[in-house]
Amino acid sequence: MGGHRAHTLEELGRGVFDVLVIGGGIVGSRVAFDAARLGLRVALVDAGDFGGATSGASARLVHGGLRYLGTGEFRLVGTALRERDVLASRVAPHLVKPRPFVLSAAGGRRQHSRCAAGLLVYAALDGFRSPLPRFVTPEEAALLVPPLRVGDTASHAVYHEARTNDSRLALATVTAAARSGAVVANYLRAVDLDLAPGKISRASLLGREGEITVRCRSVVNATGPWLELLRNLEESACEPVTRLSKGIHVVLRPDEQWRAAVAVFLDDGQHLYAVPCEDRILLGTTEQEYNGDPAGVAAEPEDVSYLLDMASHFLRPEMLRRERVVYAFAGLRVLPRGQQATLHASRDHLMSVGPGGMVSVAGGKLTTHRRIALDALRHLPHTVRPRSLSLSDAPLPGASPVRERDFHSLEGSALDHLLRLYGSETGKLLGYSKVNDNALDRIAPGAPDLWAQVYQAIREEWALTAEDVIYRRTTLGLRGFDKPEIRQKISAVLEAGAPTTSQQFS
Ligand SMILES: Cc1cc2nc3c(=O)[nH]c(=O)nc-3n(C[C@H](O)[C@H](O)[C@H](O)COP(=O)(O)OP(=O)(O)OC[C@H]3O[C@@H](n4cnc5c(N)ncnc54)[C@H](O)[C@@H]3O)c2cc1C
Repeated sequence: MGGHRAHTLEELGRGVFDVLVIGGGIVGSRVAFDAARLGLRVALVDAGDFGGATSGASARLVHGGLRYLGTGEFRLVGTALRERDVLASRVAPHLVKPRPFVLSAAGGRRQHSRCAAGLLVYAALDGFRSPLPRFVTPEEAALLVPPLRVGDTASHAVYHEARTNDSRLALATVTAAARSGAVVANYLRAVDLDLAPGKISRASLLGREGEITVRCRSVVNATGPWLELLRNLEESACEPVTRLSKGIHVVLRPDEQWRAAVAVFLDDGQHLYAVPCEDRILLGTTEQEYNGDPAGVAAEPEDVSYLLDMASHFLRPEMLRRERVVYAFAGLRVLPRGQQATLHASRDHLMSVGPGGMVSVAGGKLTTHRRIALDALRHLPHTVRPRSLSLSDAPLPGASPVRERDFHSLEGSALDHLLRLYGSETGKLLGYSKVNDNALDRIAPGAPDLWAQVYQAIREEWALTAEDVIYRRTTLGLRGFDKPEIRQKISAVLEAGAPTTSQQFS
């Protein structure tokens, strides 16, 4: 990777790029992928790790957003439902999988009717493509979600959404961008911009290796919660157009197998959910206006206590015991500026073009990232903008159909695990066993992740730190295996460099 990164940095300093995309979350990486596949010369950089900010701190749902029916965002919900279906069927079927949900509503007949009406509108906006929502008995609801408090609630309905692995979806998109010709680098922060509309602009990027200058014809600012900081580099003292809202998630260790996720709506409009993820439960979320440094956002002990407390409305106390908490994390929603409570602010994305021509884009949903990226490309200066711009359903790396019999060196749950994360690219992972004896060994007893994933992360997925591997390339972090001895072992491989690339022996 060392040599590879040095080559990338050299490449960034060479010639003039059509588009420099700043921010490698899900939006920036999709902008880079689409621009590169349309023939533009593209650079994509991130100050930290790809998918390391909001795009790795979501609820991991690919969904229409039942809640947004309450704020009247029917168009957004319809678009998100269509996107959910395309992502799950064509773009990334290995990473976006259908997930049944139990909608649990307390409050007697009135709530039952509201629930029925909401689910009917939701199904209609989806064109009645998913299995139709249906009310179930408390016994069936408890079979699907064992710790559900069925006694206190009046109605339970089952409907369908999809779940994903958010940071791996971002990584697959960065990989697609790189394979389409984009020059991509993480741990490279844009620190200065010299924008010249219609002429060649310059951006100074600061990394561990020092500062480099990239020359480009256009810039897309896809820095999510850092959007205003970048807008300030373009025009000091520009009026902010966004505000931030913090949301946290708590990862819990269940005793029993959950067959569905669960969602509830509280009287004040709050939305809580608990979603099975690998063999853990992701409990979310909170909503709190945030004015600090985006880099400092964290799930504080009082946030965790609050969320566990609120979850006692729908989960039994045994499920919410402190010993079950694996870890907690926080992310920031980018919302339009305004007076109303952040809970009720629009979840549509925001777009602005500054005096230097920089396209700033943020907000919206992980689910709708393809459309957000397309909108950003539509705002590029006409001298750069590709002639025909349309959504591409092209599969991301890993999304081709797979035949399990092609992967005979591994079977059972280990193979399932790799297929869930890498899909049709699983063969590359298995290839590491030809050069490294431990490639198919588990990194930690109790977690299905294999050493081959670490090698792949370093060789081909831009991992530079143990945290990149633990939280964003493997499932170790989510499962609670962020332990000093694991970090040490992974750091040792990072320092030594992973074995030869999988292509060389395939
Ligand atoms: C709590 C929570 C739960 C959510 N759950 C869901 C969900 O279940 N489903 C869903 O569809 N959506 C969900 N969302 C929304 C979704 O996560 C976001 O819309 C999406 O991740 C935003 O992606 P992004 O690329 O715009 O921003 P980010 O992922 O934040 O990416 C911005 C990137 O810019 C980089 N950057 C910043 N400054 C610089 C600089 N100077 N130079 C270079 N790079 C820089 C950062 O390092 C970062 O990686 C959730 C959001 C939150 C907060």
